[in-house]
Amino acid sequence: MKILVLNCGSSSIKYKLFNMESKEVVAQGVVEKIGLKGSFLKFPLPNGDKVVLEGEILEHQSGIEYILGVLLSEKYGCIKSLDEIDAVGHRVVHGGEEFNSSVYITDEVIKKMEECIELAPLHNPPNLAGIYAVKELMGDIPQVGVFDTAFHQTMPPESYMYGLPYSLYEKYSIRRYGFHGTSHRYVSRQACEALGVPYESQRIITAHIGNGGSLAAIKGGKSIDTSMGMTPVEGLLMGTRAGDVDAGIISFIMEKENIGTQAISTLINKHSGLLGVSGVSSDMRELQAAIASGNKRAQLAFDIFIHRVKKYIGAYTAVLGGLDVLIFTGGIGENSSITRELACKDLEYMGIELDLDKNNEIHGDEAVISTPESKVTVIVVPTDEEYMIAADTMTIVNK
Ligand code: ADP
Repeated sequence: MKILVLNCGSSSIKYKLFNMESKEVVAQGVVEKIGLKGSFLKFPLPNGDKVVLEGEILEHQSGIEYILGVLLSEKYGCIKSLDEIDAVGHRVVHGGEEFNSSVYITDEVIKKMEECIELAPLHNPPNLAGIYAVKELMGDIPQVGVFDTAFHQTMPPESYMYGLPYSLYEKYSIRRYGFHGTSHRYVSRQACEALGVPYESQRIITAHIGNGGSLAAIKGGKSIDTSMGMTPVEGLLMGTRAGDVDAGIISFIMEKENIGTQAISTLINKHSGLLGVSGVSSDMRELQAAIASGNKRAQLAFDIFIHRVKKYIGAYTAVLGGLDVLIFTGGIGENSSITRELACKDLEYMGIELDLDKNNEIHGDEAVISTPESKVTVIVVPTDEEYMIAADTMTIVNK
């Protein structure tokens, strides 16, 4: 069975074609700068070289047409006919309260997804554009939607409700939804499988730390709390997002700087976080380089970043009533040993003991990094959201 996974962003489409029997990625790549000058499709060759095909790609449908063209092409292709693709799985950012698991996409489901646009006006429209385009280009091929929010729909009300007037929840569905659900679900399951422990009986914290980041508390195989909120700006200090801020500061800045809703949203989403504090970069590698050359604000940004990760580990251990497994994933979680070391520092009293040598060796591989004596198993698990989307798609289509 071959499954095409599409992750349609506002100006990009990432794709992976999976052979589900061998769990192999048969083809992958990305279309970038959709609707902008200089749009292109980029993909790696088996020898590691990258091919870049420029073209005028004005919207998502022509982007997907371009991808299908390459998959079929004599020179770079891997299929002879589109019939060889059995189903398409889409990443969908926001499923609201409507979707608590992945779904087979029907016209009725599309209508419900359209109703969720309000909750993620930047993310859901391009996800839907991908679904419409596949319908147009590939006829009635089965399509499945996999939501970033779905895994967290098991949170109890005390985790997901804000202390705002209840009427606002009723009127506008204002509540915590959480994101990166596909990743939290994948790495928590994968870790338990690798450790040979039953998923349902573990108290797990997953730390998905990349450009964006969130932690989740998982008990009985269910997410019971997570650090991102109604939008992906809450929680950790991220590349360009502020994470937790006193809500009172928002109106204070708007008044002092005489700015409106659009500008304050840009400020907390795009000009804050590691970039905003350091003034150097949103990228952790560049931040580390600046720290190494003595940049104090880069150091401050990193200190705040670590402090938040640690604070959430402590908070979620309390929420879970103890901790069995702590998982690091995402670009930073998988690769930055200093982040893992500092986030776990002085937590021996909680049963977290890192094997520092082992931790230093691990960059992007799955590995246990705690000592054999550590009560809590700390493990790095590379995330694979696309595979999870393909696996869900296969399960649903086979039903
Ligand atoms: P996204 O949230 O966009 O998917 P990723 O999960 O790819 O982001 O993570 C990107 C982040 O991971 C960047 O800040 C990058 O600097 C960081 N990163 C990648 N490799 C390393 C590394 N070896 N050491 C430190 N940080 C790294």
